[in-house]
Amino acid sequence: MEKQIVVSGIRATGELHIGNYFGAMRNFVTLQDEFKCYFFIADWHSLTTEEDAEALKVHILPIVKDYLAVGLDPQKCTLFAQSSVPEIAELALLLSMVQPKTELEGLPTWKEKEASQKEAGKIVSAGLFFYPVLMAADILIQKATIIPVGKDQLPHLEFTRDVARRFNNRYGFTFPACDALEGRAIKVPGLDGTEKMGKTEGNAIDLVETPEGVAQKLSVAVTDTNRKLRQDPGNPYICNIFALHELLSTPEMVEQIKTDCQTAAIGCVECKKMLGNNINKFLAPLQERRQAISDDYARQILSDGGKKARITARQTLNEVRDKMGLPDLKGE
Ligand code: ADP
Repeated sequence: MEKQIVVSGIRATGELHIGNYFGAMRNFVTLQDEFKCYFFIADWHSLTTEEDAEALKVHILPIVKDYLAVGLDPQKCTLFAQSSVPEIAELALLLSMVQPKTELEGLPTWKEKEASQKEAGKIVSAGLFFYPVLMAADILIQKATIIPVGKDQLPHLEFTRDVARRFNNRYGFTFPACDALEGRAIKVPGLDGTEKMGKTEGNAIDLVETPEGVAQKLSVAVTDTNRKLRQDPGNPYICNIFALHELLSTPEMVEQIKTDCQTAAIGCVECKKMLGNNINKFLAPLQERRQAISDDYARQILSDGGKKARITARQTLNEVRDKMGLPDLKGE
């Protein structure tokens, strides 16, 4: 039986953080043993919000290193830069022909992104508006069926399924339905008390964070805001620090902290200290592996992966062009 195909990407808009790890990368590592996996650096998607060319450039290789350091093996999966597969852009253009504009306008993620760009005094580009179609092309070009992404991306997956369905209805079955990794989509909250840790929100613990950096960031992190005094009992269920404990601490410690917080047996300072220790324990081996990876090696991996991803991408694009009545480019 043919292996199922997995696709997922991460934008190069900053250092990767523990939200990216628990929301996406952790799953990549187990999937590479079982499925045909494509993991990419979404450099085109980065351009929807990143205006600084130098900043984009400097973020690409560190992400390859992070991919490798968390345990991705280029012998088992394909790692590449999105822009090294131009077939994706052509597919996005072709998919846009079956995509009603109004549906893009109705996406809740669009409204949020539009508002945050405006708030930052930045341009709201057509590229940003088009982002979900490009994401559909990332997935459909490889005919992927399993998409390991965080909860924030689920509306885009639903959108991708609709695009595929619409294309199949008009031109004949071409794209299989894709789905998130069952039961695994989570959202890691930010240190500022918001729902989502992100690269550009200044609310993240990066994978390259030093123990001093971890301690500093945690010291100002928001907890249960109703807990004003040390002797007040806290509510762990509305505390982002507790949510991080659930990801990084042992089940026994999580239970203990829950009780100790609810009975005010520990204060937030202590609770954060324990979390900090566990974050450092988690990050240390990852950072050691990352340090041993050279820029040249990372560059080579990207270049080899790009060539590999293009082979299958070309096949899909040829099929799509043919179905849509465009001239045959197979021999060129
Ligand atoms: P960011 O929002 O940090 O720029 P990306 O858009 O590059 O992250 O997302 C890369 C992957 O990481 C996606 O699969 C996304 O769902 C996941 N991800 C990002 N932030 C989080 C988070 N806070 N919790 C869970 N998953 C996340």
